[in-house]
Amino acid sequence: MDLEHKLELLADDARFEACDSFTPRKRKGKRGSPGIQHTRGPNGKPMALLRLLQSNSCEWDCPYCPLRRSNDIARATLTPEELATTFMQRHEAGDVQGLFLSSAVDGGVRPAMARMLDTVELLRVRFAYTGYVHLKLMPGARPDEVERAATLADRVSINLEAPNGARMKRISPERRWSTILEPMAYAREQQEAGNLPSGQATQLVVGASGESDREIFAATSRMYSEFKLRRVYFNAFRSQPNTPMAEHESTPWVRQQRLQEADWLVRHYGFDASELPFEADDNLPLQLDPKFAWALQHPEQFPIDVQTADREALLRVPGIGPISVERILALRSAVRFRELQHLRKLGVVVTKARHFVTLDGRFFGGDAAQVVARLRAQPIVEQLTLW
Ligand code: SF4
Repeated sequence: MDLEHKLELLADDARFEACDSFTPRKRKGKRGSPGIQHTRGPNGKPMALLRLLQSNSCEWDCPYCPLRRSNDIARATLTPEELATTFMQRHEAGDVQGLFLSSAVDGGVRPAMARMLDTVELLRVRFAYTGYVHLKLMPGARPDEVERAATLADRVSINLEAPNGARMKRISPERRWSTILEPMAYAREQQEAGNLPSGQATQLVVGASGESDREIFAATSRMYSEFKLRRVYFNAFRSQPNTPMAEHESTPWVRQQRLQEADWLVRHYGFDASELPFEADDNLPLQLDPKFAWALQHPEQFPIDVQTADREALLRVPGIGPISVERILALRSAVRFRELQHLRKLGVVVTKARHFVTLDGRFFGGDAAQVVARLRAQPIVEQLTLW
């Protein structure tokens, strides 16, 4: 197989690797430029990443994955030289500003890890490349491998895939819980030593192992507190033909969205994972975004007076995000908010917020029970609403 074909194959198979560096903004890559993914860089600015697998040959046999060893598919591996040279050509042509490199377990964990590390070392040393690199760690990566990764890459990640060891066993029998947590602990040490400027991340496959959202947040809380992860990504399970899980129902995208929204509440709105509005089945509601659902579960906390409420209380109002809160706090000593229109101008989503606030002593909302009934009756809208 020639290099172009290998690149196309490995870029295409990288879509099974769902952990994005930052906020993904998927666009079709230019013709002749397989593997380019548009995203946001560490400074929040748009950046194009070359996202590739170094190899799609795998020794492991995860039942949900089309790259599993039992599947008869085209296989390819790039040498460090091939990958580093290709990346530099695209970087110098201005097509990409960063690299996201992952690999299947080709020849075992040690060789797969060494191939990726050698690639990034070539980029840093021979090509003097100083830009962004996100490097995937293999389960069972040793301290010396993680240290080398941390000195070469900006961010590392290791796929958790499931929220605990029992769930993991169902979808990735060769993976052990400890072989994920140990490299995470080594990466945390590297982070604390001043390496890894963009920290470490992980991803979970949602809905593949029968896990609940509550189990997922028990795991993510630990990841954030114990291992200081910057980000946990959620990847809705999609059943793949010719795998043992081909008949397993795909997870609706909206579940992935609700998890992202809830994760956002924990990371940016001061929510504890235990406060999230899990339903009787331990999952988040799909029809309501989690902040709205939480507010409806806590009528004792509302309505609040926008003119006097503190920052934390304002942040808990559905429809009011951190930027709107700052605008309200900056203006309210000089301005008396009397109409919903005033809040709308500050970026507040008043169709939501009106049910939870008062303005100059007046309430503009409706009956909470009716609001819930109406929202639950609506078709599920699959789009992110982060506020
Ligand atoms: S380790 Fe499992 S998920 Fe990863 S490429 Fe191999 S079979 Fe697929």
